[in-house]
Amino acid sequence: MASYHIVQTLLVTFVIPNCNASHLECYNGWDNVYSFGPHTMIYTNQYVEVSFTVFIFCRMELIMTISYRLASKLYLNITNTCPCACVFCLRETQSGVGDAASLWLEREPEPEEIKAALNACYPFDGMDEIVFCGYGEPMARADVVVEICQYVKDIFAKNGRAALPIRINTNGLVYLMCPGFDASTLAAVDTVSISLNADDPAEYLRVARPRFGEQSFDALLDFARDAREYTDVVFSVVEGTMSDQRLENCMRIAQELGVSFRLRPRE
Ligand code: SF4
Repeated sequence: MASYHIVQTLLVTFVIPNCNASHLECYNGWDNVYSFGPHTMIYTNQYVEVSFTVFIFCRMELIMTISYRLASKLYLNITNTCPCACVFCLRETQSGVGDAASLWLEREPEPEEIKAALNACYPFDGMDEIVFCGYGEPMARADVVVEICQYVKDIFAKNGRAALPIRINTNGLVYLMCPGFDASTLAAVDTVSISLNADDPAEYLRVARPRFGEQSFDALLDFARDAREYTDVVFSVVEGTMSDQRLENCMRIAQELGVSFRLRPRE
């Protein structure tokens, strides 16, 4: 019974702010091991399994934050997948952003669920932009992003209103995540903001730590070059993450490609 109380305490203390349970494996005498986001693992045995299952069931609604608000922006959180592990990633230090307590998803939402979340926000009072950005890389689901962008434009067209602008915040690695992606499908997107974060392939590897290795930086530039034909492209760099020399180099890369540049505050 002692272990029951210990695990109950762990659930209440650590699980609520990190609700992203996935069953991993049996481990070292415990029957089950569950992961809750990047930091928390919970071990259970036969005595706590029932209460644990009931607990997760009760939390289901709270761990599907598809849309959230920060200032006048409506953000769409459609995946927790990301091929990078940036040294400054917000996911490593907090569970939520804006009015969302947690952006760790229990599972990836279906397109219909994302549309329902958007419908619930109509007529988007007080909002001036819709942004794909959450605890993951939206372009890992490029086909869904394109479908939802068209849906947003349709909602406004049907109601005879000018559409809110749409922005995608991305690491720019869509060509590696979704080989064959056609940049012309971004015509319904107003802005693609690409995290540049480095001025050469080696530095990019150090800062973004992409699982695709050295080819990543060039793939990012290729995507920017193609995307600029169909939408506005902005390269962004997080303030205070590189030397002045590298920052200058990043600005020059943006200029040479004919895209905008933004130094964004560290959050
Ligand atoms: S690309 Fe974005 S979500 Fe992915 S690790 Fe970097 S900051 Fe985090």
